[in-house]
This record gives sequence, structure tokens and C-alpha cells, in this order.
Amino acid sequence: MFETTIAGSLPKPGWLAEPNKLWAPWVLEGQALADAKRDATILALKVQEDAGIDIVGDGEQSRQHFVHGFLERIEGIDFAHKIEIGIRADRYRAMVPQVVGPLRLKGRVHQTEARIARAHTKKKLKFTLPGPMTIIDTIADRHYGDKVKMAMTFAELLNEEARELEKDGINTIQFDEPAFNVYMREVTDWGIAALHRAIQDLTCTTAVHICYGYGIKANTDWKASLGSQWTQYEQIFPALAKSKMKQISVECKNSRVPMKLLKLLDGKDVLVGSIDVASDKVETPEEVATVIQQAMKYVAKEKIFPCTNCGMAPMQREIAYAKLAALGKGAAYARQKFGRSARPVKRVRKAAKKKIKKQSRL
Ligand code: ZN
Repeated sequence: MFETTIAGSLPKPGWLAEPNKLWAPWVLEGQALADAKRDATILALKVQEDAGIDIVGDGEQSRQHFVHGFLERIEGIDFAHKIEIGIRADRYRAMVPQVVGPLRLKGRVHQTEARIARAHTKKKLKFTLPGPMTIIDTIADRHYGDKVKMAMTFAELLNEEARELEKDGINTIQFDEPAFNVYMREVTDWGIAALHRAIQDLTCTTAVHICYGYGIKANTDWKASLGSQWTQYEQIFPALAKSKMKQISVECKNSRVPMKLLKLLDGKDVLVGSIDVASDKVETPEEVATVIQQAMKYVAKEKIFPCTNCGMAPMQREIAYAKLAALGKGAAYARQKFGRSARPVKRVRKAAKKKIKKQSRL
């Protein structure tokens, strides 16, 4: 119960990429870069295991950005001539590549890091891919002239890679759809259908992460403009509840999404964001347990998976690691406090002390 996981990315070490940045440039190239990515992936797994995270990931150490990491292996995309467009309904400007011809996978996209991760952890392993709607919002189209058609084509390619990832031993495949709270109508019109195409024939656990974005300034400004309660999800949660996705990842810590909206996800596993990635203040385990407790009012406790609000890529490593530790400890505390065979916390603490005493005698 209360199995913990992370939304996806972790900060990269300074010997791999420039720290505290999104789209951070690599500091190495060629074989040295490949080696550094491998080392950083193993390190990311170790850090999660030490923090008591149950369903771990590669920390997205091998990709520069959660969308473009996938696009780099697709034929029909011109990366040499990026253009600036407004993304997420013009919330911020980004330099994006252009679709210039029919899209086709050049080969495997994430095989190397998926296999490295699988070889170095016995824990359940999650892998993240960008969702079709978010991809088409982060690229310029010079070929298809129809964004739904283009999204469905990307969904087919995502599915191709996802089925291979499953064979590599990945237990959960998560699609990241931060665009899902920007284009609410399109989510129900075709966004969920595109996700269904992306998960076709998968037997592993499937998840979708929706969120109000990283803790960068463009996002925090936007969030400040949304009012005291963020009720956008009222429009899409009922459709997600009916979807084939097994898990839905939602930010809950310091979020203005009213917790009661989680009730609209009835029947789904909910990855409850209990760690704020937009703040450097490290949560206490008790604070994490409080978020879990609040979620329990609307979600069956067996369906709660404590998680981070979003990716941690732009954070300082020490802070991100401390937050992971708080997540692991907070979930353990919640298990003691609210679990099925919950024992009074005092007794648990006493038992732990006794154990320590016993060990110190050995
Ligand atoms: Zn996110």
C-alpha cells in the first residue's frame, strides 16, 4: 500500500549536463557522453532506492527534454531548422523542430537506457514517454496540415516503442500530457483516443501524467493567473475515469486543484503528487502523509501511489534528493498510520527503537 513513485525526471549531475536548467546542454560528446548517461542512470536508480521509492525510473538522464528525447529518433523531423513558436496556448516561447515529411521511427528510441535500468534494479520499473497531444503542441507542422492526424501518427510510433519497452522488462509506461489542462475540449475530442492508440496491445501498467508544468517562471506566473481554485480537471477527469489508462498522475501538494476532484477519477489508481517541485522547501514526512490523508477522503487507499507533483529536472540535486527521501519516509509513515493493519504510531516507534538497541548489541 502507498507504493511510491516519481513523475519522471531527476536533476542531472554536473558531469553530464549543465545543472539547474531545462533543455540543459550535454557537457560531453560521443562515447564519453554515452558512458556518462549510463552512469547517471545507475546513480538515479540508486538514489531512488535509497530514498525508499518503490516504482523507480531512469530519471530521464539520457534525454535532454522529455518531448524532444523521443523526437530525435523519428524520420520526417527537421532538427536543423528549429523555429520559435508559442506552446501550451502561447504560455511560453520555445525553439521547436519541424515536421517536414511522413513520420517513421528510425529504430529503437530508449532501448539503451531501458535495458541499463532493468539490469540495475530489481524494483518495479517505470518508463516515461511524451503523450501525443503534448508532442504536437511542441513541434511545428509543415507536412500533415491536420493536427489530429499528426497526433495519431505520433501515437502509432509511441506504441511501437512502448511495446518494445515492455519486452525490455518495463513494468509501467507513463505518457506525459501537460497539454491536457490547456486544451480541455480536445482531450475529450481526440486526446484520450490518441493515448488509447499509444497503449494498444500493452499488457504492462499504463499511466498518464497531467500537470501544470515545471516550477519555471513562465509556469508559476501562469499558475498565479488561474485563480484560487483550479477546476480545469472537472472537464477531463470523468473522461479519464472511463479511459483505458490504469493510473492518473496529478499534482496535489501546494496545488490549487481541489482534492475533491480526485473523486471524479473513481476506479483509477491515482499518483498523488505529494512533493512540490516548484519550491525548494523540502517537505517533512508528516507533510507528505497529510497529503496522502487528504487524498484518502476521495480515493480508496489501495489506489493511492504517493508521487512527486512533476519532474524534478531543473532542481538542485541535493534538494531533489532530500525531497525523494521525504516522499519515501512520508509514505512509510502513512502506511503505519493509515495502513490496513495500522498499529498506533507510538508502538511502531517503540518497536523500531528496540530493534536498533538489539542491533547495536550485536
Ligand atoms: Zn509534469
